[in-house]
Amino acid sequence: MAADCIFCRIVQGESPARRVYENAHVVAFHDIAPQAPVHVLVIPRRHLASVLELGEEEVEILKGIQGAIRRVAEETGVARTGFRVVTNCGRDGHQTVFHLHYHILGGRRLGWPPG
Ligand code: 5GP
Ligand code: ZN
Repeated sequence: MAADCIFCRIVQGESPARRVYENAHVVAFHDIAPQAPVHVLVIPRRHLASVLELGEEEVEILKGIQGAIRRVAEETGVARTGFRVVTNCGRDGHQTVFHLHYHILGGRRLGWPPG
């Protein structure tokens, strides 16, 4: 757990979140400011600052993330209609929370390329 990390607090149950799925390695919950009808964040329980800290040693976490993405997509219905998975990294990637997270966005036709 990292000090002053809002997502670590959510993992610990110290901050509220609308959880939709969890497994041994990850937690998935609704984004507080949804940018699409479905906007869920998948995060590892372990504090990793960004995708740059995810290496080959973290293969079990990666498996957990992938399993969560599929389950969330199926349970929210976007597996049928299509969706996007994105992780922002650093300043130019518009990362604002420095605990690794994957956005699952869907429920409407998304624009491409991103602005
Ligand atoms: P980033 O810009 O870092 O890729 O995305 C961070 C996301 O976390 C944003 O979409 C933001 O709305 C969401 N977020 C920030 N703080 C909280 C929080 O306390 N609870 C929840 N559920 N989402 C949060
Ligand atoms: Zn954290």
